[in-house]
Amino acid sequence: MKKNIFVANWKMNLTVAETKNLAEKLGQSLRSFKNDKTEIILCPAFTALDDLCTVLRKENPADLKIGAQDVFWEEKGAFTGEISAKMLKEVDCRYVIVGHSERRKNLGETDEMVNKKVKILLENDLVPIVCVGETFLERQKGLRDVIVARQTEAALRDVKLFGNKKIIIAYEPVWVIGTGQAVEPEDAEHSHRMIREALMENFPADVLEKHFQIIYGGSVDSKNIKDFVDRENIDGVLVGGASLKVEEFVKMIKQLA
Ligand code: PEP
Repeated sequence: MKKNIFVANWKMNLTVAETKNLAEKLGQSLRSFKNDKTEIILCPAFTALDDLCTVLRKENPADLKIGAQDVFWEEKGAFTGEISAKMLKEVDCRYVIVGHSERRKNLGETDEMVNKKVKILLENDLVPIVCVGETFLERQKGLRDVIVARQTEAALRDVKLFGNKKIIIAYEPVWVIGTGQAVEPEDAEHSHRMIREALMENFPADVLEKHFQIIYGGSVDSKNIKDFVDRENIDGVLVGGASLKVEEFVKMIKQLA
């Protein structure tokens, strides 16, 4: 049985000291809690990855995993400001978010770039967390399904999956991120079905079953998390704002148990 996924995207919000503090508090709060149903992935800023790794190597009863918020698509070389998959692995990073809407919008991240990032991650045995989702304007124009399918197919073009390789797709309607107002769970589930259909164009059912999980992101909190994960086609959540508060974080995890 696959575990539910819980990705905490801390974005550019916490310093190294704040990251360590939050991770330590989470570890303590979840210490006695039997967490065998959820894969909890913490995605801090790059500067905090090494210290987070040290904190979790010392003691990690809740089995918290480390994720990054981006990667570059080349192995190494003259790419000022970028970070490689190998560098991320060195600090126990096992998951990497790619194609987040904030990067697509603010930094011009394209479907082609996302595809290259997915490939380098898989080559390095890291798990890509691929974000897809429509803007409000696209939804208003009735383009939601088209956008979600296009982004999914483009991100996975020519990708080969074998062994234990895994991909997480995060459906994130761009217009609800950070607003405190999630979409209805059935609305999210519709998009999850569209994503599954898009995947089925390129991957056989057994590959889909074994290598993919599809999660929802966009204003998830302790009040609505269960409504999402209780849905058959929703394998977990990606959480921004609500994952920055210890109590709220712990409340959400306990609801996934
Ligand atoms: C996100 O970071 O992608 C996100 C879903 O943020 P929030 O939970 O704050 O909407």
